[in-house]
Amino acid sequence: MSNDCLFCKIVAGTIPCNKVYEDELVLAFRDIHPQAPEHVLVIPKQHIATLDDVQVQARAVMGHLMERTAHVARLIGVAEKGYRTLINTRGDGGQEVYHIHVHILGGKAIGPMVC
Ligand code: 5GP
Ligand code: ZN
Repeated sequence: MSNDCLFCKIVAGTIPCNKVYEDELVLAFRDIHPQAPEHVLVIPKQHIATLDDVQVQARAVMGHLMERTAHVARLIGVAEKGYRTLINTRGDGGQEVYHIHVHILGGKAIGPMVC
């Protein structure tokens, strides 16, 4: 846990969240500023700041994170029609919270990527 990390505080329960799914390794909760009808963040409970900080030892956690992301997409009902997953990395990637997270965006046709 990182003491000054917002998402570590959500994992610890000191900041509330609208939880969608939790197990021993990951937590999924609704984004506070949704960009789509369904917008959920899936995070590892372990503090990893960015995709660039993923070490070999975190491979199992990251594999679990991706498999559970698909599970969460099914749980919130977007899997059949489809959805977008997104990991933003550092400033130019648009990352605001430096605790790695997968965005799930769905509930409408998201459309092509625009940069
Ligand atoms: P990033 O830009 O780092 O990829 O995404 C961070 C996301 O976290 C943003 O979509 C933002 O709306 C969301 N967010 C920021 N603060 C909070 C919070 O306190 N609670 C929740 N649920 N989401 C947050
Ligand atoms: Zn953290």
